[in-house]
Amino acid sequence: MKVIAERKRIALVAHDNKKAELLDWARFNHETLSHHFLFATGTTGELLAKELDFPITRFFSGPLGGDQQTGAAIAEDTIDMLIFFWDALEPQPHDPDIKALLRLAVLYNIPTACNRSTADFIISSPLMGQEYEHPTPDLERYAASRHPVS
Ligand code: PGA
Repeated sequence: MKVIAERKRIALVAHDNKKAELLDWARFNHETLSHHFLFATGTTGELLAKELDFPITRFFSGPLGGDQQTGAAIAEDTIDMLIFFWDALEPQPHDPDIKALLRLAVLYNIPTACNRSTADFIISSPLMGQEYEHPTPDLERYAASRHPVS
């Protein structure tokens, strides 16, 4: 069992049509977010840093590999939580990367918000301010079962 620390490592991602909404949400939750470590894809991070003066670790822009970097960070256990305001009305050039990111978020069982109301519930959870015993999947057993030793 892994423990997610009190100070969470939160990845923030928003598609272009959802950036204003994420900025508004982040502005509203500025105080809470300031207690955590923030990561974001390139353009989302640039906007957050500029408008809200957040210290933020930026990956590449989403379509240029940022979604894949975010997914890799989840797999490597350097991200605890994903706030991903994705655009449900427009196709994106990097749709396969988005699917991969969401798959890894589910696989590694990290709290994931894909819309504002879920993000509201997550950010206002008492678990945001305390350690959390994080049930993680038994991936070693899964890997072993895929490559049995004869
Ligand atoms: P962006 O990427 O923050 O660089 O716009 C977001 C995305 O499209 O995944």
